[in-house]
Amino acid sequence: MAAGYTCWGRLPIAAGEPLRLRWRDAALPDEGTLLAHGNGRSYGDSCLNPGGVLLDTRGLDRFTRFDRERGILRAEAGVLLADMLRLTVPAGWFLPVTPGTRFITLGGAIANDVHGKNHHVAGTFGRHVRALELRRSTGERLTCSPDQNPDWFAATIGGLGLTGLITWAEIALKPIPSAYVAVETARFGGVDQFIALNDASEPSHEYTVAWVDCLARGRNLGRGVFMGGNHARHMARTAAPPLGDPALRVPFDAPAWLLGRATLSAFNGLYYRRARAGTRVQHLGPFFYPLDGIGQWNRLYGRRGFYQYQCVVPRADGGAALKELLGIVAASGQGSFLAVLKGFGGLPSPGLLSFPRPGYTLALDFPNRGRSTLALFERLDRVVEAAGGALYPAKDARMTAAGFARYHPRLETFVRFVDPRFSSAFWRRVRPEES
Ligand SMILES: Cc1cc2nc3c(=O)[nH]c(=O)nc-3n(C[C@H](O)[C@H](O)[C@H](O)COP(=O)(O)OP(=O)(O)OC[C@H]3O[C@@H](n4cnc5c(N)ncnc54)[C@H](O)[C@@H]3O)c2cc1C
Repeated sequence: MAAGYTCWGRLPIAAGEPLRLRWRDAALPDEGTLLAHGNGRSYGDSCLNPGGVLLDTRGLDRFTRFDRERGILRAEAGVLLADMLRLTVPAGWFLPVTPGTRFITLGGAIANDVHGKNHHVAGTFGRHVRALELRRSTGERLTCSPDQNPDWFAATIGGLGLTGLITWAEIALKPIPSAYVAVETARFGGVDQFIALNDASEPSHEYTVAWVDCLARGRNLGRGVFMGGNHARHMARTAAPPLGDPALRVPFDAPAWLLGRATLSAFNGLYYRRARAGTRVQHLGPFFYPLDGIGQWNRLYGRRGFYQYQCVVPRADGGAALKELLGIVAASGQGSFLAVLKGFGGLPSPGLLSFPRPGYTLALDFPNRGRSTLALFERLDRVVEAAGGALYPAKDARMTAAGFARYHPRLETFVRFVDPRFSSAFWRRVRPEES
């Protein structure tokens, strides 16, 4: 594996031959397959291109427009969300949608059409993209927006980097009264209580999220901690230091005992018991990016790496699929640190392949234990499929072509926009045979 290029799960997948892009119009190699690589925060193989060229976009790092009056930001695709926040938060603007880490690039946010804790009111990141430039392997450059080349826009938002290289994008920011969030916390004893809390909080809280103890069994199955947040008024806009670099780093691959059931159950149980119901004011940093405080935390899963399994299931079954999924995970004893549970609302995602759709989304980490882990995923897949749900490509390293086709009803249309020179390890596994 090329040093420094890997997926976040640190699974043993070759990266591809890296090519550092410094300029938007740098020449692209004439041979081999191509794939843009942002900051490698995708958990699986969608950001890797073994046997081909990996276009490292981090050198495309310039801001080209910041309208402080209207909250419009244009930047090259390799700019990190963290860099944007340092610029915009002190001026009173925040990202319209942000995932649980700020160490991803603008191009990566668009290519996976990422979601945040405010999906029920803001939808996905792609809904806030005003325009982007797409560079094809032919040298053609297309400016795409909801009005200009709208079909290319829809294919590129959530397009997994397969339509070409995004060189720059312009987004609409959201105004914020301060750099703080008023957070209400409550514990819940199971899935039914989570649903009741979540559904009651969505109308009054811009941000909602829950952490679930995925190792708890029996009457504790599905217990967790729910948080609802709103931007706090009457507080300062200062963004430092919590939006800077991580304060701590994991300096080595963790030993196997750390991931034993006893250690993990103790950690999850402690987290659950320590959570106190009530309201407090918290800086944006720890509220939106709790894991960013520890650099390279993915090393906690040891040398074999780990998988994340993220699915969405419809709300209509009243949580039956969620209960079944959590029951299977708890009985397997393979779950790990806290799992994340969130609601997706009804605002349509703009991308042909965007993952978010109305429902509840559950994300769980699993240490890579080889075949037993993969066998567990197959059991979970059956529940997701029976419920009419879907898996998230950004977190995946093993879904099948049949599953991918089932989850993406507009795949046939999407295939027409794939650049013939662009590919990824993920795409070679899941693409339809005739493409
Ligand atoms: C701790 C953590 C929390 C997370 N939380 C969330 C969450 O809450 N919600 C969510 O949606 N996701 C979440 N993610 C996943 C992450 O947001 C996505 O995987 C994101 O796409 C990673 O961006 P990246 O810049 O690292 O891109 P990479 O992972 O390097 O690449 C991702 C995809 O984008 C493509 N790409 C990158 N740059 C370009 C470009 N310039 N042009 C064309 N294609 C490009 C790549 O080819 C690849 O297909 C989380 C990840 C981590 C590690």
